[in-house]
Amino acid sequence: MSRPLDFNLLAQDIKLWGQALGFQQVGICNTDLTEEQPKLQAWLDRQYHGEMAWMARYGMLRARPHELHPGTLRVISVRMNYLPPAAAFAQTLKNPELGYISRYALGRDYHKVLRQRLKKLGEQIQAYCGELNFRPFVDSAPIMERPLAAKAGIGWTGKHSLIINREAGSWFFLGELLVDLPLPVDTPVEEGCGRCVACMTLCPTGAIVEPYVVDARRCISYLTIELEGVIPEELRPLMGNRIYGCDDCQMTCPWNRLSQLTNEADFYPRSYLYQPPLLELFSWNESTFLHNTEGSPIRRIGYFRWLRNISVALGNAPYQAEIVQSLEQHKGISPLLDEHIEWAIAQQISRRNNDCIEIQQPKQKRLIRSVEKGLPRDA
Ligand code: SF4
Ligand code: SF4
Repeated sequence: MSRPLDFNLLAQDIKLWGQALGFQQVGICNTDLTEEQPKLQAWLDRQYHGEMAWMARYGMLRARPHELHPGTLRVISVRMNYLPPAAAFAQTLKNPELGYISRYALGRDYHKVLRQRLKKLGEQIQAYCGELNFRPFVDSAPIMERPLAAKAGIGWTGKHSLIINREAGSWFFLGELLVDLPLPVDTPVEEGCGRCVACMTLCPTGAIVEPYVVDARRCISYLTIELEGVIPEELRPLMGNRIYGCDDCQMTCPWNRLSQLTNEADFYPRSYLYQPPLLELFSWNESTFLHNTEGSPIRRIGYFRWLRNISVALGNAPYQAEIVQSLEQHKGISPLLDEHIEWAIAQQISRRNNDCIEIQQPKQKRLIRSVEKGLPRDA
């Protein structure tokens, strides 16, 4: 007869195994997200999800992991640091001729890295228990990973809606392993934002409409990655040179002074994405784009959204005849792209004629000062 499992000991082992697999932290929670449901419903009712129709489609299922994977009793939540050394935030944002890519997307696609490790963790637990029903998730549509991470004690939800850890800041990926074991759960940590509102004040597009609530339709991450159609004209000048994602709310967060750098070589920047000149990126043809973004999260936005985003950034750059020429050469690929190219050319011409708004918004300057003061020394 096999002896009964000691779930307290097993939970300790799972944490050690997770750390050996490269996760900086492992926490455990139950599946009850009842408290999140009214907040999620209010967010959807206000249409803050924009064109992310899957959010509305999954509805409250996102707050019920046990329905998503029947039999689930616990969620094992993990975090993995991704901030590479020498992240060059300010240098890249300050130079409008360069393209800024969110720091999580400079290397290999994290979905693959985390999912493989979570699967290994599941297999290890299965081998120990003899039987286990498990399913890994990484940034997957149908699951509310941040509230689960908060419940599992990984950190608290910051006013920018991301998870912050007292010792590690917020530059980390999250992943979950759903299991059917009655493991002991961890305790959530105390909230640490206090009276700070830095992320809300410095968000370039005012997307954090109230503490803990992000209107995705204004968020640059949504505009450059999720949105398939036209970027609203009034938001384009505010995007600056951010061509894939945005890190401003994390850069400005005082807790990120304590952030830890990654030691995963997979997340180190590819040379051609690290401080890349916009004109160089714009000159890639589709096969170069596909080649250079193989195994990268950037690939999922596709070539046309890539060109669309760069067009907007070129529209925000100081006047250069070469920029106008390059924009002209890209006309005729698609009506959607043409619309952004026409806008960018008009911005360039207007700037040449000296009647355009200042490129670097005052908010942007304040952000850069705050970033220069606040980041860990090696970043
Ligand atoms: S990612 Fe950028 S645009 Fe989105 S909320 Fe944060 S600072 Fe604002
Ligand atoms: S910047 Fe301030 S308010 Fe925003 S998440 Fe960080 S601590 Fe919280």
